[in-house]
Amino acid sequence: MYPDKNSNAVAIMNALITPITYGIRMQDNIPVKMFMSICHHLPPSDLLMMACVCKDFKNILDERINPLAGEIWRNSRNQFTNFKNRDPPAGMNQQTFARLLTFTNGCQFCKDKNDMLIVYWIPGVRSCKNCMLKRTFSSSAFRNNFKLDDEILGLIAPITPNINSPEILDGPKHYWISHVKNAVAFFMEADDNVRLMLNQLRKDVEDTRKESQNYHQWTSNVLNIERLFNHRN
Ligand SMILES: [Zn+2]
Repeated sequence: MYPDKNSNAVAIMNALITPITYGIRMQDNIPVKMFMSICHHLPPSDLLMMACVCKDFKNILDERINPLAGEIWRNSRNQFTNFKNRDPPAGMNQQTFARLLTFTNGCQFCKDKNDMLIVYWIPGVRSCKNCMLKRTFSSSAFRNNFKLDDEILGLIAPITPNINSPEILDGPKHYWISHVKNAVAFFMEADDNVRLMLNQLRKDVEDTRKESQNYHQWTSNVLNIERLFNHRN
């Protein structure tokens, strides 16, 4: 019996036995092991570029395909950046974590590097304020335009930190548009049994918000120390 052509195991095997080619113009092949040891000496920004070079590089650096890739990203972040000694938030892989923390790549939507950039951990994006406002609903827009129950808002973790005032905890809340759509769909379909679980769900949402706030605090501390250091030099 042949394994499914698309399974992860097949992808890993292919990655390990097929030499990497640089495409049609270069004739030299480099073995996977050598590629990976080169990667151990590169900062996350270079690894991100490597992952865009070709499909082979992309697969080898993808933790879902190559179980060793996570260590490459973790090592790179610890060795070359100040965002070290911390694991990604629950459910996020090392590659995404390192990508989000590469502030030198600018806003991931408009590529602007000058505006103040913030990692919003709940949707998992690094963005300027303008791009973020375009991709979220404010709680008042939500109430006025959709005439929906406030109960639904309790099921969605708001964007953390606050878009308008990142350093204060309160203020008008914003919600990522696809999270709102998912919560509305969930709420509409919920039967009585599910409704009994809503309190637990609200608690989970609050925990997610706190975790996100904690990551924001950590990120801005590191950035502030870097700015202070650059200023002194
Ligand atoms: Zn932007």
